[in-house]
Amino acid sequence: MANNTYINALKNPVFKTVSKAASQLNLECYVIGGYVRDYILNRGNSKDIDIVAVGNGIELAKKVSYLLPGKPKVSVFKNYGTAMLKANQIELEFVGARKESYQEDSRNPTVEEGTLEDDQNRRDFTINAMAFSLNETNFGELIDPFNGIEDLKNKIIRTPLNPDITFSDDPLRMLRAIRFATQLQFKIEDKSFQSITKNAERIKIISAERIVDELHKILASAKPSIGFTILNKTNLLPFILPELSDLKGVDEIKGQRHKDNFWHTLEVVDNIAKTTDNLWLRWAALLHDIGKAPTKKFDKKNGWTFHGHEFVGSKMVYKLFKRLKMPLNEKMKFVQKMVYMSSRPIVIASDVTDSAVRRLVFDAGENIDDLMTLCEADITTKNPTKFKKYHDNFKKVREKIVEVEERDHIRNFQPPISGEEIIKTFNLKPSREIGIIKDAIKEAILEGTIPNEYEDAKLFMLQKGKELGLKVIDK
Ligand code: ATP
Repeated sequence: MANNTYINALKNPVFKTVSKAASQLNLECYVIGGYVRDYILNRGNSKDIDIVAVGNGIELAKKVSYLLPGKPKVSVFKNYGTAMLKANQIELEFVGARKESYQEDSRNPTVEEGTLEDDQNRRDFTINAMAFSLNETNFGELIDPFNGIEDLKNKIIRTPLNPDITFSDDPLRMLRAIRFATQLQFKIEDKSFQSITKNAERIKIISAERIVDELHKILASAKPSIGFTILNKTNLLPFILPELSDLKGVDEIKGQRHKDNFWHTLEVVDNIAKTTDNLWLRWAALLHDIGKAPTKKFDKKNGWTFHGHEFVGSKMVYKLFKRLKMPLNEKMKFVQKMVYMSSRPIVIASDVTDSAVRRLVFDAGENIDDLMTLCEADITTKNPTKFKKYHDNFKKVREKIVEVEERDHIRNFQPPISGEEIIKTFNLKPSREIGIIKDAIKEAILEGTIPNEYEDAKLFMLQKGKELGLKVIDK
């Protein structure tokens, strides 16, 4: 077998069926793009497979279905000229080979039928332009006109054609380059890199949804800082996340400096990526300090301060999500809450009292573990003694959380005395007093004045009612 033949990549019998269908229709077809790249990279076999037909992709899909046992359903997307079917645990997407030409103001090209070569020319990167032949004469042969395999070996992202044209035609490709560089830990080749810098402003024609898709993928990578560092270097960052680029820089007044909160943030994100796959917690890490830019102040007494940055930051989260058309639902609220509470465990860590922990658990509720994970990731000091001390402190907080939780069950706090019971006990109409008593019970539990138990809370309620001049109704 020639060493540029990859029959093992095409072991699934479905590929042979595609080959047969293509020869019956007298057309050529190829597996192209991500599947080829990931197979050669040994990234595990992707289940989504793009097949390009030199001819009508929809017809090929229908023919393939006809030849397959059970004749799987073909979904046709007429507008895109594509068709999809699932067989043998893989999903095949068929498209006719195309030639594209672009206008200034849109990333949607004019499309005409083309050859395999035309189709490879329109691909974003050399490593994404490789194809495996499905034709009977050279089944499994790698068709790699831009030497993508060499770029895979050398870990390089490079556009097949002049990068200025590739990126200007479809500026989304700039983010895709950065995303692949992050996911694969590859380097963007110099000319492509410079071209991204040159074309950065064109990102403005890309929809927020597309941008967010790529940001999610960068954040979900093992080392997200790679992507954000490149976004910064290429000047794309201010167009996408100005809140983050505003964190850049170190100011100095009277010999006092604060840390560069942008680089600190990237370290926090990399740290958290080691301990959680929760995408929204990773977003929280990315945004936890955004309130620091607008709240930064210097005064002689306190030096640099960022008072209230957590509150300001949580408000900024809403605006940022809105601008990027991200969901304004419980995910956003979670990120807001994490940003808002991001300093709370730090404040109590040096003196961990039961009541402070109860309040922390009460406010964080079911998100307490995530909050602790965020705070631990936030430790970026390079001083080993401090590093150990801070981690040890958080360890104590975590232990105390478990201890307090076992005893007091604050995490999903349900008041032991309901409003209804207060009403009945004192024969009240809806009134302020009910809220006052309820709050007082909650406060007493959090403070540790009474345990989180029904009998204790009832006695406390009766005493509180008495103080308010209420009479108990005997039944
Ligand atoms: P992943 O599944 O990890 O996102 P992928 O390479 O399969 O990787 P897709 O977005 O599914 O990514 O794209 C499939 C193929 O289509 C790519 O490998 C590439 O050849 C081509 N492609 C996708 N988007 C573009 C684009 N904006 N410009 C040019 N080619 C593109």
